[in-house]
Amino acid sequence: MVAEILGVGTELLLGDIANTNAQFLSKVLAGLGISVYGHTAVGDNPTRLHAALIYAFSKADTVVACGGLGPTQDDITKDVAASYFDKELVVDDASWEAIKRRFAGRDIPENAIRNAMVPEGCTILPNNHGSAPGICLEENGKILILLPGPPHELEPMFMEYAVPFLRQKTNLAFVSRTLKIVGLGESRVETLLQDLIEAQTNPTIAPYAKLTEVALRITASAYKEEAARKLMEPIAEEIYNRLGSHIYGEDNDCMAKIILDKLEAQGQTLAIAESCTGGLLTSAFVDILGSSGVLLEGAVTYSNKAKISRLGVPEGTIAVEGAVSHHTAADMAKGIALTSGASIGLSTTGIAGPGGGTPEKPVGLVYFGLYINGMTYTHERRLIGDRNEIRARAVVSAIDILRTAISHRN
Ligand code: ATP
Ligand code: MG
Repeated sequence: MVAEILGVGTELLLGDIANTNAQFLSKVLAGLGISVYGHTAVGDNPTRLHAALIYAFSKADTVVACGGLGPTQDDITKDVAASYFDKELVVDDASWEAIKRRFAGRDIPENAIRNAMVPEGCTILPNNHGSAPGICLEENGKILILLPGPPHELEPMFMEYAVPFLRQKTNLAFVSRTLKIVGLGESRVETLLQDLIEAQTNPTIAPYAKLTEVALRITASAYKEEAARKLMEPIAEEIYNRLGSHIYGEDNDCMAKIILDKLEAQGQTLAIAESCTGGLLTSAFVDILGSSGVLLEGAVTYSNKAKISRLGVPEGTIAVEGAVSHHTAADMAKGIALTSGASIGLSTTGIAGPGGGTPEKPVGLVYFGLYINGMTYTHERRLIGDRNEIRARAVVSAIDILRTAISHRN
């Protein structure tokens, strides 16, 4: 599939605006594996636009034109496209209804109906950010896509409606992998991969931020699935090099499951003592089918008294260091391991807010204890968000701390 991009508008020729739509479209088309053979810009002149269409289709089977879809006299793209394909312009009822809804009771300008006029037999690309719908005309192997000029209308329309249409036409195989990242925020991930993200064409790289992790979706296309997979390999490898062990898995991998499998293979058992996470951490492991082979016990020791009586945290530790401290987290982890007979103890104690924070121990401060191989380790994290977000982030931090601790062992 070969494409040509045609910018329509005298503004482009006068230098009043830069043809950024052409840049955007080129990038996305390249990502789809569609070769772009040329960019053309033409003024709002029917004769010259008609000639430009003939020339574009002499080089390409797909022409993507942008601009001049509006209702005013200088918006001529639809008329010229219709006459190029020998079609009449007719009112598209759905688009006209959508336009009337956009005006919502206000006076509709007389010429607005022109926005809803489309060449007969075309496919409509709905405009969710403006009035003029996009148009897709297909005949004798030629595809003409007409898009509105304003980038904030063109870009979402193209991604949402034109890309799936073109994907169908290309017969390409698409392959994607989702790398799952923990312990780095979305903006940090983007900074570390900025040059790769900026240079992306095929494969494409798209980060998606979730509450507690970032997913990075890499998608490659080629005529054969195997070839698409090959295209993806070097970029995935480079991302692994940069993000290292922050990538805990791919696609449907679940961090708690990875840990349980590993502990099972190592013959280890786990017990958990929770304060601020209130059972959520244990629950994250119980969610995994077959967790009973590894998880022995989870105790919610919320009060100081519970920490002392259930886990054997010395009263003095809490009195001197506070319940939210390295020492208490360490004693909790060791206490739950020794009293349950598990080889590993994991603990959380922190301030989930909204109340209870002080300048020294602000809301979001959470300590984690890990008792493993007879040694105790602690970690401090300052988490952000409301009460539930802090607790959800604390759960993932605790799981990640355990993952890191066991990852170098076999
Ligand atoms: P409208 O309904 O707003 O008139 P239209 O589809 O008729 O939209 P034009 O009238 O050609 O489009 O252009 C409207 C605006 O869109 C321009 O003033 C400019 O801001 C922007 N625009 C048009 N073409 C391009 C382009 N090739 N690159 C970037 N921006 C563009
Ligand atoms: Mg216009």
